[in-house]
Amino acid sequence: RASMQPASPAHDGHGGPPVHGVSNTVIGVLGGGQLGKMLCHAASQMGIRIVILDPLPGCPASSVCDEHVIGSFNDGDTVREFAKRCGVLTVEIEHVDAATLEKLEKQGVDCEPKASTITIIQDKYRQKKHFSRYEIPLPDFMEVDTLRSIEEAGEKFGYPLMVKSKRLAYDGRGNAVAKNKEELSSVVASLGGFERGLYVERWTPFVKELSVIVARSRDNSTVCYPVVETVHKENICHVVEAPADVSNKIKKLATSVAEKAIKSLEGAGVFAVELFLTEDDQILLNEVAPRPHNSGHHTIESCYTSQYEQHIRAILGLPLGDPSMKAPAAIMYNILGEDEGEAGFFLAHQLISRALTIPGTSVHWYAKPEMRKQRKMGHITIVGPSKISVKSRLDNLLQRNSSDPK
Ligand code: ATP
Ligand code: MG
Ligand code: MG
Repeated sequence: RASMQPASPAHDGHGGPPVHGVSNTVIGVLGGGQLGKMLCHAASQMGIRIVILDPLPGCPASSVCDEHVIGSFNDGDTVREFAKRCGVLTVEIEHVDAATLEKLEKQGVDCEPKASTITIIQDKYRQKKHFSRYEIPLPDFMEVDTLRSIEEAGEKFGYPLMVKSKRLAYDGRGNAVAKNKEELSSVVASLGGFERGLYVERWTPFVKELSVIVARSRDNSTVCYPVVETVHKENICHVVEAPADVSNKIKKLATSVAEKAIKSLEGAGVFAVELFLTEDDQILLNEVAPRPHNSGHHTIESCYTSQYEQHIRAILGLPLGDPSMKAPAAIMYNILGEDEGEAGFFLAHQLISRALTIPGTSVHWYAKPEMRKQRKMGHITIVGPSKISVKSRLDNLLQRNSSDPK
């Protein structure tokens, strides 16, 4: 006969109170943008407490977190105070005060992924040097700090030449292309000069851009999401197609490069690996994000475990979920600001209104306090029975013919 005695209470292994529900650990997130908001949704579903640190009152995550601490994730004292209220500290943006995270870790604060990972990734040149040491295939790159050195790089790599800021880059802000030697000095000036910290990359004439999200648990096991194609417009992610329309051989190669790259970094969580596919079927790594990523938004509707829930499972030491797709195809469209202020809000609202009439469509609106041109204001995911159907639904939504250029 089964015992009628209640089971003994579950504990988290740290001598704390009995666990009620999934986990008692409070998650602290540096940053409260859209990625933070979607992390909060996933935490809320599982009844896990989540607090965010972001300087902007009314930032996207503020309406869905358990608590919003208004303050800078770049300020050491603020981050230290914030860490006191969390059982585990994570990020939704890599441009945080990594030096403070390094110190906090030494004092026993649990940062996932590890501060060393944030330190490497937040400086794209350092990131490239790191991955080249681990023999990850990359476009050729070189540090430049004088006009003479960038001219030498131009001679070596040819033109167009991709010039990048080492730090604080996002959505292509921080990148500029020099078409020829004559343009070098104005391109450098447009990025804020050599003082800003610049490096160059050989131009990669890719045929596709791919992305793989890799999740790593606290005990170092990994799972990979299906390879997706990311379509960029003016350096900003515009559309994501899942799964990518490439051969199984390319999928395997992309996944293995991504997994190898992530295994060279420390800590738990999800990581996005942005890749170039070249004409001769090479896969080159562009960059890694140590957090959920735009190329994984579709996983909320299209995968058994979304990248957001996966990140939470990973950093809390819970079993990782199934990353595979539960629908044959998904497409994600970023709603970028098309105009400033009210005019921009009006255009976005028109698009959203049409989206709500299309089957399989989910609208995400980040509710950012301000509308700006080219700013990520929301996204739309369409899930459906085939690649063709989700693409044609997106064409319908955008009121364009499938033969029009993207
Ligand atoms: P993100 O918002 O993804 O963080 P970012 O500002 O860090 O973007 P990158 O990922 O470095 O910028 O580059 C943005 C885009 O510019 C890439 O997705 C790709 O389309 C293009 N690009 C970057 N590097 C190269 C290169 N070496 N050759 C050709 N195109 C490139
Ligand atoms: Mg980047
Ligand atoms: Mg990028």
